[in-house]
Amino acid sequence: MSGAGPVAVRPELADVEPYGAPQLDVPVRLNTNETAEPPPAAFLAELGAAVTDLALHRYPDREAVALRSALAAREGLDADRVWVANGSNEVLLQLLQAYGGPGRRALGLRPGYSMYPELCRTSGTALDLVALDPDGRPDLDAVAAVAAERDPSVVLLANPNNPTGALVGPDVVRSVHDAVRGLVVVDEAYVEFAPDGASVRPLLDELPRLVVSRTFSKAFRLAGLRVGYLLGPAAVMADLRRVRLPYHLDAIAQRAAELALAHEEAFLAHRAATVAERDRVAAALAALPGVVVHPSAANFLLVETPVVDLFDRLLARGVLVRDVAAAVDRPGAVRITIGTRAEDDALLGAVTAVLAADRT
Ligand code: PMP
Repeated sequence: MSGAGPVAVRPELADVEPYGAPQLDVPVRLNTNETAEPPPAAFLAELGAAVTDLALHRYPDREAVALRSALAAREGLDADRVWVANGSNEVLLQLLQAYGGPGRRALGLRPGYSMYPELCRTSGTALDLVALDPDGRPDLDAVAAVAAERDPSVVLLANPNNPTGALVGPDVVRSVHDAVRGLVVVDEAYVEFAPDGASVRPLLDELPRLVVSRTFSKAFRLAGLRVGYLLGPAAVMADLRRVRLPYHLDAIAQRAAELALAHEEAFLAHRAATVAERDRVAAALAALPGVVVHPSAANFLLVETPVVDLFDRLLARGVLVRDVAAAVDRPGAVRITIGTRAEDDALLGAVTAVLAADRT
């Protein structure tokens, strides 16, 4: 049979724009929440030798035993309670493929991480979003009501949340876990920037349907590597084996992530400075007229401003931030990643200039 026209994409994808933050060649890029400093020199010096002795003509270890064991040792868990994948986005997709899918629902919060709706759509999972309170906290009554009505098999929470920067905290996670029958996924992509004790990882011993996802992309300064991981019950990891592609995490990424763990202290040494820089930028922005800065436990700031086209006007000045006006339902709202001091000074100068131009 010879068809005439092109093959139609799945109907639910027909109107979908390919997703992704703009990758623009501008001097100051503060839109994707990476750490501004490259990986430590000692790690880079060892990386070449560490990957040259890999047998790259062979498939990688499907079970990523060495990397999972290293993560398990770091977390004080058995290796069968650790999963690794190609970025934490892939971890989340695999969770939805295993526990969501056609006929099942997920529950999330709004505003939340912009990939959750994408991952739900790709996996055929229906998604209900519950609005955060005006103070940025989850409305637990609303979550319980939606949970009772929709019976989600997956709940997606981010701790700290993106784009608000707010922590979720153990009490909320306990309440949500009590309110649902499904898997509670706490996405801790930014938790290393939060104060000590902010992780809900200790609740894994208490809450049987909790899993915690993490990534090497943010505080670990390896966004280019694509490695994320999951901590939780061994039975969940066993279910993820049912949906993962056979060799989903390449050998170079496995080895490099393992080496990064051996250099963990050096990788994470920037944290105090990054947090201090975040607080400096937050204070400087908050001092500008009409600007509201949300408290953040991450390496980015949610900022509300009176300038409706702030995103475009900063871009015209060579500063790329994230336009979150639609996501948070506030014209003039942007999300700003903390960069180097020089990048942040350029951002502050640009915001100040745009606000001044608006007042004249
Ligand atoms: N979760 C959140 C909340 C994020 O902001 C991001 C990255 N933007 C991710 C997960 C995914 O990160 P990666 O796939 O690089 O691990």
